[in-house]
Amino acid sequence: MTARIVVLGSADAFSSGGRGNTAWLLEDGIAPCTVDFGPTALVALKRLGRDPQRIAAIHLTHLHGDHIGGIPMLLVDAVYRAHRTAPLDITGPPGTAERVQALWRDFYADAAASELEFELRIHELRPGDTARIAGREAAAFAAQHHRGDRIALMLSLSSPAGRLAFTGDTGQCDALHDLARGADLLCAECTEFEASKAARRRHLAWSELRSLLPALGVRRVLLGHLGEEVRANAPTIEAEARGLGLDLRVCDDLAEIALFPGHPPTPPL
Ligand SMILES: [Zn+2]
Repeated sequence: MTARIVVLGSADAFSSGGRGNTAWLLEDGIAPCTVDFGPTALVALKRLGRDPQRIAAIHLTHLHGDHIGGIPMLLVDAVYRAHRTAPLDITGPPGTAERVQALWRDFYADAAASELEFELRIHELRPGDTARIAGREAAAFAAQHHRGDRIALMLSLSSPAGRLAFTGDTGQCDALHDLARGADLLCAECTEFEASKAARRRHLAWSELRSLLPALGVRRVLLGHLGEEVRANAPTIEAEARGLGLDLRVCDDLAEIALFPGHPPTPPL
């Protein structure tokens, strides 16, 4: 088996198309990590036969429920079923520590009243920050997603399998070029097929990505955070991308995608 990215969920916040909320599992030969961990992520891991407690790090792009809602379920599985002792690192934007603690208290007050038997290490990142987490270098960029002064992140992870870039949720912004520079693969959100006025500036549409992607210079692209219309048009999108010289896949739940052929084998999680 080669290093791979596993699609834990491929849908938008509304579980469009009956799919899980977008989250990515990275199995690249070192301690596994995920990017985001929404309400459906634990179910996906178990359906795939993966042990959720082998995950060493969760990288949150932002604090919307469809990206973080699975964390208390991972913790309750850690405490009562798995009796986890290995540390868990969580990175996220400012406010992550408070939000994770609040979720844990709100979901399982009794468990949250006791000390965890493992170290929960929360690292808050701002755009421009880098951190070495679970053997990978994480770099944070500013996404364009929130109103007001709350921060949403795009992330790049330097993995043994290459540099992987994740847009999280974002509208079109200049920082996408910084995120994509030198990346071997881009996991991009694609909420809409044609950009609507309502979502523009907070999410990406295929009508925008079609002209943006060639300029970003990343040839391998995985699309997630898919709305109904994007999924219905997947064959069209993939054909148009081929015409642009891109190796692009519109992802579905539970897909296991080899990262780079020829990379050393990775044992399953
Ligand atoms: Zn969001």
